[in-house]
Amino acid sequence: MFKNFLIGIFSAILVVALGTAAYNVIGVNAAASVAATAAGTGRGTGGQVNGSAGQPGTGTSTGVVTGNGNGNGTGTSVNVLTIPASDLNADEAAALLFMIEEEKLARDVYTTLYATWNIQTFQNISTSEQTHMDQLALLVTRYTLANPVQAPGVFTDANLQALYNKLVAQGSLSIGDALKVGGAIEEIDITDLQTRLAQSDNADIQQVYTSLMSGSYNHLNAFSRTLSNLTGETYAPQYLTAEQYQGISSSATGNAGTGRPAWAGSAGGKSSGKP
Ligand code: MN
Ligand code: MN
Repeated sequence: MFKNFLIGIFSAILVVALGTAAYNVIGVNAAASVAATAAGTGRGTGGQVNGSAGQPGTGTSTGVVTGNGNGNGTGTSVNVLTIPASDLNADEAAALLFMIEEEKLARDVYTTLYATWNIQTFQNISTSEQTHMDQLALLVTRYTLANPVQAPGVFTDANLQALYNKLVAQGSLSIGDALKVGGAIEEIDITDLQTRLAQSDNADIQQVYTSLMSGSYNHLNAFSRTLSNLTGETYAPQYLTAEQYQGISSSATGNAGTGRPAWAGSAGGKSSGKP
């Protein structure tokens, strides 16, 4: 009798344990679904450290690692915080505070447009933008700056607030407009990152900006592809020159073997990486 009681208890514990395991598996898969569309195998310079999904690989890495759920890199990861900090001047500080809100603008616009149009690309890329915010937040904290991030749709920077309002309105007009808004944000992001990358000599900041820029290349291509797929329209660059845009779209097919690092976070490419 007592033995049966013990078996009963044990079974109950086992069920709870299995339930937890199943939950974890589901959680990992959900997180990794973005990854599965991510970077292809490439050279895989960025594995996963802080994210909930993905496995670090075996090689060396230059990737910034703040957990975007990719996990298909073949390299081990280097957390940006392992790169020594350097002196931060006023311009570098202002740039970090601006860029974290610009990544937030991307996240918030995509979240809103996903709710409006139910296009998966927006959902996937908004998740990636959150990881970009997380990467910048590491630097904001490291350099003891006040994090300007507020609630979704609310911005400390007045220009970004105005841009957010404008782009959400524009993206609400049609699916084509929404996807072009996505492309516009990525182009703005690329140019703003390029400018600020050139203005910082801090290796940790350069690492994060470079990582975010690669993500933006992939995102831009994903929006371009989705626009073509859903409307038949060919994406035309809105902020980049035709030459710059050509360079980006031809360098990234979103498929394996482009050498694109795992942390670049394409939302549309085919991946052979395992979650
Ligand atoms: Mn981004
Ligand atoms: Mn982006």
